[in-house]
Amino acid sequence: MNIYDSLIDIVGHERLSNSQEELFIYSRDSGAQHPGRVDYVVMPKTVEEVQGVLRLANREGIPVTPLGGGFTLSALVVPKNGGIVLDMKKMDRIIEVNEKSRYAVLEAGVSQAALKTYLEKHSPHLQHSTPEAPPSVTVVGNALIQGHGHISPRYGVNSEMINGMEVVLPTGEVCKIGSCSVSPYWFTRGPLPDLAGLFIGWLGTTGVVTKLSIRLFPKPRFKDVIVFSTDDIDLIPDAICEVTYLDLLEDFFLIMQEKPDWMNHVFFVIIVSAHSHEELELKMNAYKSLFKEFKGGNPVQFVEDLHPALRKRFMDVPPLASLAADFRKGGGFEYTGAILPIDAVPEAWRRGIEIAHKYGMICSYVHQVLPGPGIMFGFNYSFNQADQVDIENTRKALDESNRLTYELGGMVWKGEAGAQRLMMERMDPNTAELIRRVKALLDPNGIMNPGNWEKE
Ligand SMILES: Cc1cc2nc3c(=O)[nH]c(=O)nc-3n(C[C@H](O)[C@H](O)[C@H](O)COP(=O)(O)OP(=O)(O)OC[C@H]3O[C@@H](n4cnc5c(N)ncnc54)[C@H](O)[C@@H]3O)c2cc1C
Repeated sequence: MNIYDSLIDIVGHERLSNSQEELFIYSRDSGAQHPGRVDYVVMPKTVEEVQGVLRLANREGIPVTPLGGGFTLSALVVPKNGGIVLDMKKMDRIIEVNEKSRYAVLEAGVSQAALKTYLEKHSPHLQHSTPEAPPSVTVVGNALIQGHGHISPRYGVNSEMINGMEVVLPTGEVCKIGSCSVSPYWFTRGPLPDLAGLFIGWLGTTGVVTKLSIRLFPKPRFKDVIVFSTDDIDLIPDAICEVTYLDLLEDFFLIMQEKPDWMNHVFFVIIVSAHSHEELELKMNAYKSLFKEFKGGNPVQFVEDLHPALRKRFMDVPPLASLAADFRKGGGFEYTGAILPIDAVPEAWRRGIEIAHKYGMICSYVHQVLPGPGIMFGFNYSFNQADQVDIENTRKALDESNRLTYELGGMVWKGEAGAQRLMMERMDPNTAELIRRVKALLDPNGIMNPGNWEKE
């Protein structure tokens, strides 16, 4: 039987395609990387179907690329050598919300918007950590790539919020990870050997996660935003430390945009939340007076007259900070997500502006401060998808900001294959070898998302 007929046997006609129009769409994303090639698109609805597809692919040596929302932008879901794109969006059930132990068990295709809407309706006092990505991106895809959401500065990156998962291995076995392997409750990863690490950060190269438990957090009734600005880039690390040391915030990001002129400053945006008016007032007052004595002067200033439109954008969940970016005609956007130590920010800030100018772009920054503290420093590039020169310039700019990230002691988050290779070249050789061995153990025929976490 040929591959197409075998796939029909597994998922039926309705959720399988090899039509040229659909293969075209699945062979690219809205970032600047080269398109790939896809042979089949499969939309499983059950764990058994995922098992069937992986067993077939493993037997026949067919590459499989798991796809959530497909918005990581760095071609992580664009197959390099053809094969099957496993689009998880039909596995879209919210299986359980446990209000007391505060977690939700989801299938892999549940979108950020679906979980947010569900919680607003059924558990309005709870929230999950929502990234500022398009609402159709999946909770699972985001957590697996170690994404960050609107409460990450307070509670950690989203992969730290994973309590457990169900995974189909490339060889077809179904594995449960965390407390769900011994208990009906999906409430913790420990106390057990933490096998979740075999699937987090691996970019779909070790298995297909079909269900995941994600932590939920209290959703305080009151919120406010406070903004400071400075023009002294060298003050940024100390200013970040002041803000995070106070330790009363929910979200914290830095923005700057060269145009219009009033945006061309370093802005510190701090979101605080509270269960009562009194708590909110206390927190707001603590932050307002934070920089009064800073460096013996007033180099970081409180922004008194925050425009109501900006205020609304910052207060939204997730806050729409990257709307400030210079989105161009043609809709293309990609960024180097540099996870940097705080000390490296001034150098990254200056050299990022140089890179943007070198390639004819207006510099625009959105950086979220993460616990540690470190920072997700976004070197943002928007481009016209119909303009080859623009696309080529964006690739060069990305390569330069990737290299700069490593030079400054940082790491590129969810980088394209080239950025991953740069990371592996710099990695301790024994660590790189361990990665290779773990991958070979789980995926003996190398079918899972080939081209990722490979040295060449
Ligand atoms: C404007 C904009 C703003 C953004 N802001 C943020 C932000 O604030 N925070 C943030 O974290 N991200 C942000 N992003 C990046 C990205 O969109 C998100 O991280 C998004 O949540 C990724 O989810 P996805 O479903 O699109 O993943 P995908 O791109 O579909 O997949 C990501 C990776 O996970 C693998 N994968 C997906 N599903 C599975 C599965 N079930 N099993 C195994 N592997 C799987 C894929 O193969 C791929 O390697 C932003 C993107 C844009 C365009």
